Amino acid sequence: MYLYNSLSHKKELFVPNNPEIVKMYTCGPTVYHYAHIGNLRTYIMEDVLEKALRYSGYNVKRVMNITDVGHLASDADTGEDKMVKGAKRENKSVMEIAQYYTDAFFADCEKLNIKKPDVIEPATNCIDEYIHMVETLLANGKAYFVGGNVYFDTSTLDKYYVFNDHDEEDLATGVREGVEEDTNKKNKNDFVLWFTKSKFEDQALKWDSPWGVGYPGWHIECSCISMKHLGEDLDIHAGGIDNAFPHHTNEIAQSESYLGHKWCNYWFHVHHLNTDTGKMSKSKGEFLTVSLLEKKGYDPMAYRLFCLQSHYRRNLVFSWENLDNAAVAYEKLIAKIATLKNDGEIETEAFNKLKARFEGALNGDLNTSVAVTAVYDVLKAKCNDATKLALLADFDQVLSLNLLSAAENLRKKQAEEEAANADPEIDALVAARTAAKKAKNFAEADRIRDELKAMGVEIIDTPQGTKWRKV
Ligand code: AMP
Ligand code: ZN
Repeated sequence: MYLYNSLSHKKELFVPNNPEIVKMYTCGPTVYHYAHIGNLRTYIMEDVLEKALRYSGYNVKRVMNITDVGHLASDADTGEDKMVKGAKRENKSVMEIAQYYTDAFFADCEKLNIKKPDVIEPATNCIDEYIHMVETLLANGKAYFVGGNVYFDTSTLDKYYVFNDHDEEDLATGVREGVEEDTNKKNKNDFVLWFTKSKFEDQALKWDSPWGVGYPGWHIECSCISMKHLGEDLDIHAGGIDNAFPHHTNEIAQSESYLGHKWCNYWFHVHHLNTDTGKMSKSKGEFLTVSLLEKKGYDPMAYRLFCLQSHYRRNLVFSWENLDNAAVAYEKLIAKIATLKNDGEIETEAFNKLKARFEGALNGDLNTSVAVTAVYDVLKAKCNDATKLALLADFDQVLSLNLLSAAENLRKKQAEEEAANADPEIDALVAARTAAKKAKNFAEADRIRDELKAMGVEIIDTPQGTKWRKV
């Protein structure tokens, strides 16, 4: 599989350190509020990545953190902890908020067919690991303690901005704009590993440490949780593009300084879902959640299809009109699949040819829009329905659009509707009309049609036979 690696700025053949198991880490949610559908775009694409790796034969161990401490309102180590803000907003404790929104997050994931990672670790579970890493960084001269906080010293690195081709000065000013400088920092990009003194003294969760009672910075959790479960060599690390700087940049800085060697080989970044007025955020305008989509009558699968129709390295613009288009496309797709019948043996040659098209799309930097096109190619193909059904089941291991189960549900619903509307008198007239048509007695067929019309019954001729409905 070829994937774009943000670290090398090019597409590379994905080769894990150990072919037996791919070690994958993905940044999890900050559980101070519901996830918006932009966050969930990132999780959908990471889910597709994991499933595509499994589909191509790898075993994958995937780890995700839950940020329940240390993510401050600004990514640049200033402001109040987002969790504390959430707790105040709802008059609850931080742990109550964390539990509630963690559950809500996984409920949303389930609705979108996002598989649960193999390991899910809340940041508050790993305090000993953070303390150990910070102690090591201090001992190695990579960190310093000043004004009550421990900072990572970015001047000890050969290269700090690993992801960006930007001019270093530009990037630094851009990111720091409007953010009050922390005068304790030796270099403007230094970041906090452990806080004991923040401007906000009401931090709810604190732990004892060699530097006093305090709490970890945001970045250290991902380095330590990854190493705890996946060891010192990581194959692939994923997250939203906004995490590339400063979060992932800082993860690499501290991890490699701690380990003394390269940490992660491939970095996979999902670009943003934007609204027509800009980046989607939890504090701006209408807060778009999966529940809101459902309330408005959308099947979450329509949103998953909407995401799959575009490439993960392009910004995607959300509008109701765009979602409507995806919803209509999904409905039509399922209706078409519902007409397929399991009609015999799978035709191997056709199966392999169509599967190769799908694999080619995934292997070309996870091109999900082409992979979705491969679904339509199957429906248009000249092979039998059994082959089509087998291919759709195969593709859905990655796409997870409920292609077959939704079609089965639709068939059941249609059968129930037919049964509920059953009327032997009308059925007999419809059958008589069909017989008349077959006998080329069109005058009689038309007479029966008119008789039915007078009874308020409309006849619909379909490839599956004649249906009727009351109008
Ligand atoms: P958070 O809960 O804020 O830590 O974010 C969870 C994930 O969503 C991170 O991987 C972010 O990079 C990602 N993310 C945030 N905003 C967006 C967006 N508008 N579109 C796609 N992904 C996003
Ligand atoms: Zn992270």
